[in-house]
Amino acid sequence: MLAVIGSPVSHSLSPLIHNRFARALDLPYAYMAFDVTPETLGDFVGAARALNMAGFNVTMPLKRLVLPYLAEDPGARAPGGAVNTVAVRGGGLYGASTDGSGFLLSLDMLDLGAGSGGALVLGAGGAARAVASALRGRGVYTRVAARRPDMFPEKYADERLPWDRIGRAARGAELVVNATPLGMSGTGAQFDDFEFLDSVGRGGIVYDLVYSPRKTHLLMEAETRGLRAVNGVAMLVGQAALSFEIFTGRRPPDAVVSETLEAVIRDTG
Ligand code: NAD
Repeated sequence: MLAVIGSPVSHSLSPLIHNRFARALDLPYAYMAFDVTPETLGDFVGAARALNMAGFNVTMPLKRLVLPYLAEDPGARAPGGAVNTVAVRGGGLYGASTDGSGFLLSLDMLDLGAGSGGALVLGAGGAARAVASALRGRGVYTRVAARRPDMFPEKYADERLPWDRIGRAARGAELVVNATPLGMSGTGAQFDDFEFLDSVGRGGIVYDLVYSPRKTHLLMEAETRGLRAVNGVAMLVGQAALSFEIFTGRRPPDAVVSETLEAVIRDTG
């Protein structure tokens, strides 16, 4: 058995994605969504051990709260210490983050990259750290703009700039990644303005990790400027493929991952 835990979690696309992987690989796993709060996390962990689950994904608000339950420090495998994948082995819990590697996999699936203009990552949280460190690992010059750039670990970025210099940070960038919740439905928070997009390099890519709504205000503004707009569904499927491999030992083939991405886009609008 596999699961995603968090709260709220009922609208999670993870069951759809992982159950497709299991069917495609003919593996006997069922993947479910469980609403688990910080108060019930301990009970869930006990149940996961007792039921001998293969593993579970962790989403908001549990990504850091799960750390004390892990058998070892996820360290470098989870930049910023936010875990999205927990494997259960012999009663022990082992954490990892597939956000950064899943993001890179999504770039490869969509045949996207960031050339000499480099990348700009917006935000300083778990997703921003994972994405920035993955891009740097690929040799991409990576700037980060955040409200508290000093809070962003130096080792994950080439340059850290304050939010009010976002226009300068975007200058010539070939890839801009929104790793803040700005524009996400339900939060009400929105970018103050989109002028910074005028500084992005010609033909650049704007990748919003937000996938609800599918087309955020940021992506609409990117398209009106002739930039390529990509939403967070691609990363969601990429990180799921890598979590699935950690849980089951089997990596869904690239064709299955791409078909799953198409199916999610088709079936969930
Ligand atoms: P987090 O809470 O760890 O970090 C959020 C960051 O956004 C923080 O640095 C915060 O300061 C910043 N922020 C919030 N409001 C802001 C504002 N008004 N102006 C400037 N910065 C602001 O969250 P996270 O886990 O890093 O997730 C960030 C976003 O990425 C969320 O929308 C999440 O849904 C999305 N995400 C998507 C995927 C995917 O697979 N597509 C995976 C992980 C996260």
